[in-house]
Amino acid sequence: MAHFIVAGGGIAGLAAALACAHQGHKVTVLEQAPIIEEIGAGIQIGPNGRRALEGLGVWDLLRPRVVFPRAIRILRAKGGALAELPLNEPFQRMFDGTYQVVHRADLLDALFVEATQRPLIRIHTGRRVTGFAQDDNGVRVDIEREETDAEGAEKHQTLTGDFLIGADGIRSRVREGLLHDGPPQFAGHVLYRALVDIDAVPEGVDLSSVHLWLHEGGHVVHYPVAAGEKFNIVAAVNESWESEGWSEPSDGAILRRVFKDVAPALEKVLSLPRQWLRWAGADREPVNTWGKGRVTLIGDAAHPTLPYLASGAVMALEDAVILGRKLAAIRSREREASDEEIISALRAYEATRQPRTARIVKRSHALGRIYHAGPPLSLARDLFIRARSGTAGLRAMRWLYGWRP
Ligand SMILES: Cc1cc2nc3c(=O)[nH]c(=O)nc-3n(C[C@H](O)[C@H](O)[C@H](O)COP(=O)(O)OP(=O)(O)OC[C@H]3O[C@@H](n4cnc5c(N)ncnc54)[C@H](O)[C@@H]3O)c2cc1C
Repeated sequence: MAHFIVAGGGIAGLAAALACAHQGHKVTVLEQAPIIEEIGAGIQIGPNGRRALEGLGVWDLLRPRVVFPRAIRILRAKGGALAELPLNEPFQRMFDGTYQVVHRADLLDALFVEATQRPLIRIHTGRRVTGFAQDDNGVRVDIEREETDAEGAEKHQTLTGDFLIGADGIRSRVREGLLHDGPPQFAGHVLYRALVDIDAVPEGVDLSSVHLWLHEGGHVVHYPVAAGEKFNIVAAVNESWESEGWSEPSDGAILRRVFKDVAPALEKVLSLPRQWLRWAGADREPVNTWGKGRVTLIGDAAHPTLPYLASGAVMALEDAVILGRKLAAIRSREREASDEEIISALRAYEATRQPRTARIVKRSHALGRIYHAGPPLSLARDLFIRARSGTAGLRAMRWLYGWRP
């Protein structure tokens, strides 16, 4: 049994912990936040994501909290439907699974509950990974503890293990120590997220489907989450970012300027939140490999993406399933896998995941420009989207939703 240390207790970190524990390995998760929790926001999960959740053993836990939308509707913000992708039986037959939307907190909760039921997994909160080193014998991880932690505990500690998985998100310390490639790139888009009670949503707003409204200089996505109790809204606009951090509260004033004279239903949606949380939209050019020796990366640490294909979290879940598969492939009844075999399993995991995640990152980046285009590009875009309404649009998504481990 090897000992994996996982930096980060988000979606990728908990999924990785489950994947390693399923293969009989001991896992220590180090999460910088004092508790494992999520800010309110929604996540779309295609049939590929559902398969990954099933593989990790968390689908049944999450199932009561998911919402199954009727369709994905693409509209012009000024009014007028462009396309509708139905998510009913033909979709489910084509991709052998359902399309669902969830609250991030519900997804994280399901992963956390499953992880806490596994005796091989230990989760420590209030532990920030500040650096690491590796040699032939294992990894040493430097940790900074929360000030408020148990009295007498050292603020700076080290933990040793056999392998390290960096699941510490878009500004990953582990990635910096491994690849030295600096901070992610700001994409020129700012994302505004809000969650409101479903009862606050007025008449005239369609709750049955995921809505994607396209506009010059921005777009808006909305759908219900949390077993239909909450309404999730995300708006992205072309905007500069001057703040120190990468996210902050906002009154969303710019949204009223960008989305002026839009369809009444969209106007109602955008007037719902009293406060938004704004995020600097960022990603990175994909790299060929994201591991060395005993260390690898997973999720946003490995392949941060803009959220326009709604696939970042799902990629983290797929990553974990593939990591588990590669560890399973070297497992034998007769003897423990050697460190060298596990290291080659880590490289095999990276090689399997690289092309798919690079495609997602590049497509998402391109979609940002296409979604926010003005004329004449927007006219060509609208013609293209119209031509892909219904089954034609579904077939074009086969590469994304048809994934199987
Ligand atoms: C507006 C928006 C909408 C989105 N919509 C979707 C969607 O519909 N579908 C989808 O699949 N994806 C979506 N995503 C993407 C998705 O949210 C991310 O890809 C996903 O959260 C990545 O998970 P992660 O665990 O890799 O990173 P994170 O969620 O960033 O988790 C990283 C964790 O590591 C911890 N951490 C960081 N540094 C350290 C450290 N040094 N030491 C210890 N712990 C550390 C953090 O506290 C955090 O808990 C969206 C993203 C945005 C911004």
